[in-house]
Amino acid sequence: MVNQMKEINVNSNPAELRQMLDYLGVAAFVIDVISANEFRLAAINARHEQLSGMKHDEVAGRSVDVLLSPGTVALLKANYRRCVQEKAATDYQETLDLPIGRTYWQTSLVPFFDQAGKVTRLLGTAYEISDQVHLELEARYQSTVMSVYLDESPDGILVVDANNRIKTWNRRFLEIWHISEAIMAAGDGEAALGAVVEQLAEPDSFVRRIKELYVSLNEEEQGVRIQMKDGRILERYSRGLHAPEGHYWGRIWFYRDVTELQRMTEQLLHMSQTDPLTGIANRRVFMERLHEEYRRAQRYKHNLSVLMLDLDHFKQVNDRNGHATGDTVLREFVRVITPEIRASDCFARLGGEEFAILLPESRLGSARQFAQRLCQAVAALTFDSPQGAFGVTVSIGVATLCDSDASPEQLINRSDKCLYAAKSEGRNRVRPRGDTDDCEEPEKRLNPGL
Ligand code: GH3
Ligand code: MG
Ligand code: MG
Repeated sequence: MVNQMKEINVNSNPAELRQMLDYLGVAAFVIDVISANEFRLAAINARHEQLSGMKHDEVAGRSVDVLLSPGTVALLKANYRRCVQEKAATDYQETLDLPIGRTYWQTSLVPFFDQAGKVTRLLGTAYEISDQVHLELEARYQSTVMSVYLDESPDGILVVDANNRIKTWNRRFLEIWHISEAIMAAGDGEAALGAVVEQLAEPDSFVRRIKELYVSLNEEEQGVRIQMKDGRILERYSRGLHAPEGHYWGRIWFYRDVTELQRMTEQLLHMSQTDPLTGIANRRVFMERLHEEYRRAQRYKHNLSVLMLDLDHFKQVNDRNGHATGDTVLREFVRVITPEIRASDCFARLGGEEFAILLPESRLGSARQFAQRLCQAVAALTFDSPQGAFGVTVSIGVATLCDSDASPEQLINRSDKCLYAAKSEGRNRVRPRGDTDDCEEPEKRLNPGL
C-alpha cells in the first residue's frame, strides 16, 4: 500500500492510477498540475464515480475546465492553486454541481513534488457531507422562519423551559407587558412574573393560574381574558412543549391585545340592538325579550303585559313642520317615557312612529294605568316650529298574557287590536277601556253598546 501510494506521484497510466486510488476506500482523485491555471483530472476511483456520477473513462486526462460548471471550476481551481502555492496539505469544504445534483464535500488535497520541488500532482480525498449540510441548511432555514415569525407576530410570545427559565421572547411581548429587555435577558421567569403583576387588575387570580400551569404540563389555554389596570384587555393562549418522546420541554405563552377588538365587538353589538334615532332597543331586541318573558311567564304563571304605542297623525307633524322636527318629536317622546320604564321592562321602537313596551309582572289594570300616565305625559309636550307651537298625542293598545295563549304573537295581536280600537275611537287614548280580562275579542268587550 505504501509503495503503491508512492507510485501515485509518477504513474501516468490512468487505469493503474485508478486501481491505486481504489485502495483508499474513500472517494479519491488525482489532479495533474499543468500550470497555475490548468489542472487535469488524471483519475477518479470507483467510490468517487459512485458519489459524483462521473465516469473515470470519460473524465481521465481532461481539463477540469470542461468537466464542471464555470462557477464550480473557479472555486476548485482556487483551492488547487492554494495547495500548489503553499506546498502543503489543504482542507476545504466544497459545493459541486454534479450530474446527480448539488453535493457538498469535505476535501483534503495532498501535493506531490518533482525533483526540483515543484508541485506536479495533487491527490484529493473527499467525504461527501451533503446529508449534514442539508440538515444544517434546514435548521438554519427553520430558525430564520422562526425569528421572522417572532419579529412579525402581532402576539407577544414567551417560551420558558421546564424550570421556568426564559428561553425566547419577542419584541411584541415586551411592548404588551411594558417589560425591559434586561429582565427577560436575565432569564428568570419568576422575576418577569413579578414585573407584570402590578399591571393587572386582578393579580392574585392571574398568579394562581400561572402557578397551576407550571405543574399542569399538558394543560392548554385558549383565549383566557386578562383585564389590565390601564383598561387594556389581553387574551392568553398557552400550551406545554413536549419532546417527541414525551418529556416536558417547557411552555409557550401567547398574549394578544384584544382591547380594540373588544371595543368594536361591543360597538357592533350595541348597534345591532339599538335604534339609531332614539337610542332605545330595536324591534329585534323587543321580539327576543318578548319570547323570553313569554316562556318565563308561562312556566311560572307570572303576569306579562304589552303596550303598543303609535303617535297620532304623525304624517301631518312631518308635513307641517318638516321631517327634522318630526325626528325631534320622536326623540322627545322617548325622552319623556324613558324615566317611567323599570329596569326589567323593555321599551323599543318597532319602526316609524310605532313603539312597544314589555311589562313583566304587570297585570292589565296596572299596565292600563301606566299607559294612561304615558298618554297624558305625551299630550303635555309642546314643540316650537316656524309654523307655531304644536303638540302630539299617542294612542296605546294594552294586552296581558292569558292561560289560553299559545304563542307570544297572540299577545301582540291583541294589543295591536286594542291600539286599532284606540285609533278608531278618536286617538289620544288607551284601550281597552276597563280592567277586565282582555282575552275576549277586544271589539266585543270594548264597544258593547256600539
Ligand atoms: P295615525 O294617527 O293613524 O297613526 O296616523 P299617522 O300619520 O301617524 O300614520 P301613518 O302610518 O300614515 O304615518 C306615519 C308617518 O310617520 C309617516 C312617516 O313619514 C312618518 N315617519 C316614519 N318614520 C319616521 C322617522 O324616522 N322620522 C320622521 N320624522 N317621520 C317618520
Ligand atoms: Mg303608524
Ligand atoms: Mg301614527
